[in-house]
Amino acid sequence: MNKHDAERVSGMLEALGAVHVPTLEEADIAVFMTCCVREAAEVRLFGQIASCKNVPVRTGSPLAQRIIAIGGCIGERDGDELLTRFPHVSVVFGTHSLASLPGMLKRCLSDRVRQSDTSDTADAFSTDLPTKREHAWAAWLPIMTGCDNFCSYCIVPYVRGRERSRTIEDVVTEAQRYVDAGVKEITLLGQNVNSFGRDRYGAPRFAELLQRIDATGIERLRFVTSHPKDLSDEVIAAFADLRSLMPALHLPFQSGSDRILQAMNRSYTRAHYLSLIAKLKQACPSLALSTDIIVGFPGETEEDFGATCEMVCQVGFSQAFTFIYSPRSGTPAAQMRDTLPREIVQERFDRLVALVQEEAYRFNRAAQGRTLAVLVEGVSKRDARVLAGKSPQNQTVHAALPDDLDIEQLIGTIVPVRIDETKTWYLSGEVMRG
Ligand code: SF4
Repeated sequence: MNKHDAERVSGMLEALGAVHVPTLEEADIAVFMTCCVREAAEVRLFGQIASCKNVPVRTGSPLAQRIIAIGGCIGERDGDELLTRFPHVSVVFGTHSLASLPGMLKRCLSDRVRQSDTSDTADAFSTDLPTKREHAWAAWLPIMTGCDNFCSYCIVPYVRGRERSRTIEDVVTEAQRYVDAGVKEITLLGQNVNSFGRDRYGAPRFAELLQRIDATGIERLRFVTSHPKDLSDEVIAAFADLRSLMPALHLPFQSGSDRILQAMNRSYTRAHYLSLIAKLKQACPSLALSTDIIVGFPGETEEDFGATCEMVCQVGFSQAFTFIYSPRSGTPAAQMRDTLPREIVQERFDRLVALVQEEAYRFNRAAQGRTLAVLVEGVSKRDARVLAGKSPQNQTVHAALPDDLDIEQLIGTIVPVRIDETKTWYLSGEVMRG
């Protein structure tokens, strides 16, 4: 969601006549899009903002001082406090006030007025704001904002608000516009996409939305994020039925222990999660499943943690994002007393990471010798003669760039790659010709 918001910010700044520069040193205006879901990111952000003070403005800048703006969840949560804490920050905006950024920047440029705006402008989606998409061939498409679930550890409902869905027509029109412009892959965004439409239509209509977007002619369709309690049979069936829906699903389980799931207020049990996995695998045997897992939630015993490890092996995830629990002020879990010693949590975390890597490798091994349809995204970070892209299962794939082809011709196209080598986090192979 933040990446998408950042694309909107870039679009609005370009509409004001700004150009993107690669480093802070060259920038007259710097906008930080922030996230307060995890403590580590927040600490890093505050360090970066503090150190901006010491970076002089570029030679030739018309400004005596760089304009620094902070947006996103931390802007929403802290508002004016950020202006007090960081006297060199000029603008703060919240998750619902993206559209006010250009006006605030203009006032700041003309009058040097420091301002914050965390008001809720009724247009939570700002769909008419200019957007500078990072890639011509891919688009993020927010279908809803906010979350009604109030998991006990999570700050999102407090900073992104309650669920608000766009209309089906609005989303489909935007999707069609992307397809007509040559976009190959659309990723639908929402904190809990499965409940899309509930606030607006009285019942979720996510499965219908998937069908309507499939009918636009998009080549690849993905979505994040799903909540296990809301994943319906209709959405599961869509993995079998819809041509464009890629066989990859991110379904966070957080903990394998029912006791911890209850303390997390996740509203499902381990048995329910596993029943969903069974249905999904039946509907789409090639489905890649990824997940989020929290280690060290207050009160987690070795037995609870063992149940989490068991789930990892039982499901066979292609990827898992593992997090050490960090209390977020204002959430119910932050009040829980039975926190765990750091060494125990770290030791469990390390064990889990090793397990996740084994499972990821096992998943990737199954691709050995197969030819996959790879959407080319660019070149490998390590070697400009190696192209990098994504398989339908969202695996990163590398392949030597054919001598007679330029990477610019291939970016955004789908090419067949025969997989010759499998690693934990990527596959490599050869582009098949003819
Ligand atoms: S469903 Fe996700 S975004 Fe919503 S409260 Fe739970 S963890 Fe946070």
